[in-house]
Amino acid sequence: MVQEEAPIIGKDILGRTIRDYSNTTWWGIPRREIPWFPQIDYERCVGCGMCFLTCSGRVVYDWDFEKNRPVVARPYNCMVGCITCSNLCPRDAISFPSLSQLRKWRDKAQAVAKAAKFIRELRKELSRTK
Ligand code: SF4
Ligand code: SF4
Repeated sequence: MVQEEAPIIGKDILGRTIRDYSNTTWWGIPRREIPWFPQIDYERCVGCGMCFLTCSGRVVYDWDFEKNRPVVARPYNCMVGCITCSNLCPRDAISFPSLSQLRKWRDKAQAVAKAAKFIRELRKELSRTK
């Protein structure tokens, strides 16, 4: 399977369902062995909320109302390779490991070969059911 099931562990303040992806694997590598998650430079953050509101699928962020800023509450929920919140941050306050590091993890996991195999098998399966 490409996407593993992750257990539901609650809801956040916006009522969004929170799952725990920390015990899943990423192309066969335990998710916790890949330190891919956002890091926030609070010197740059202006507390706009864009990252918190944008990450609605994986619900990586909580919001600290006292300090009016995001908190990376569930780092291993972050989808490996996603940088959407960073792209949308108006202050460039969110950073991730480098693209070259990401590609090292991709190669270590043999993710490209596994993806291609998955597609080949899916094609076969679909042609059998036609
Ligand atoms: S999007 Fe950027 S500036 Fe806005 S709350 Fe998040 S880190 Fe702070
Ligand atoms: S990179 Fe994507 S999955 Fe990770 S915290 Fe940002 S929006 Fe959420």
